[in-house]
Amino acid sequence: MSTAETLEPPITLDETRERMRVRLAGIVPEFEIDLKAEIAHRINTLKREMNAVILGHNYMEPALYHSVPDFTGDSLQLSAISAETTADIIVFCGVWFMGETAKVLSPQKMVLVPSDKAGCSLASGVSAADVRLLKTRYPDAPVVTYVNTYAEVKAESDYCCTSGNAGKVLSHLFALGHKRIIFLPDEYLARNSAAEIGAAYLSAGDPIDAVPMDKPAVIGWNARCEVHELFKPSDVDAIRKQYPDAVILAHPECSPEVIAKVDISGSTKVMSDYVENTDAPRYALLTECSMGDNLAGQFPHREMVRACGLRCKHMNEITLEDTLEALEQRKYQVELRPEIIARAKQPIDRMLAIR
Ligand code: SF4
Repeated sequence: MSTAETLEPPITLDETRERMRVRLAGIVPEFEIDLKAEIAHRINTLKREMNAVILGHNYMEPALYHSVPDFTGDSLQLSAISAETTADIIVFCGVWFMGETAKVLSPQKMVLVPSDKAGCSLASGVSAADVRLLKTRYPDAPVVTYVNTYAEVKAESDYCCTSGNAGKVLSHLFALGHKRIIFLPDEYLARNSAAEIGAAYLSAGDPIDAVPMDKPAVIGWNARCEVHELFKPSDVDAIRKQYPDAVILAHPECSPEVIAKVDISGSTKVMSDYVENTDAPRYALLTECSMGDNLAGQFPHREMVRACGLRCKHMNEITLEDTLEALEQRKYQVELRPEIIARAKQPIDRMLAIR
């Protein structure tokens, strides 16, 4: 299983250290593995005592990713798991909006995010007031929001989407007869998804008839992922020159100019599945750099080009030390008003109902 992988963390300190040495060989120095194995062992012992489950996003740093999560995957997969788990406590090793989504899907559980500083430039790039304003400006357009938003923004939305199904959700709504759809907050994901399904792109603020009204158009916002926007078309050229046999995969939060040059555009799940199930000479990922290291540890028989140095400072907030403290002190708890939980769940449920 490649994403939403079940890891069944080891029980003894020796097993923990051995697992980490195997998975992190050549990625993390051995002395660091030994130090981190002790923390990981304390986390795994404590979480069993507390009946807690640990979810690890694909962008977690390798030592954490390969030692304490019971499940790894992308944000929505992990949230879906949180809705099904029988654990009393969910520790979401990811950024804050992911913890909120888990809370929306499993409101009766205690959800912890190990840092209260783990934000996201996309989630903070649009507010509930922005969405209300856009709905006034384009009253007939349904609102689709990327899962990388806070619950208050989801609560104002009609549908949710992920980077894996954005095109599908838009196509579903265009097929229902809508000619304009508001898509928030990622400008690049909006542009890439519109291009994927042959729709036009309008910026929020453009007149609604800036393209003929019989042509489907996506109305985008101006937020960007501060990590993925840094990849440039010249990065793709440089990889091709140095590794002409590499398959290059990019996340659709990258610019359309980057996406036009790569071999595969897809979510972290698409990337992980592709690396697991194909047999290319090597793979280069244009996404948060921990992902390449994590896949190298997960699939040691695959050759990953590890030339990337772009880490997300928000994901980087989550460490093994913080995770231990989160369990010990039951912090930081995600709290949402019941009204927001009820309203934010609707767009997620509508997305899940699209086949
Ligand atoms: S990588 Fe980008 S989208 Fe993901 S948490 Fe960081 S800033 Fe947000």
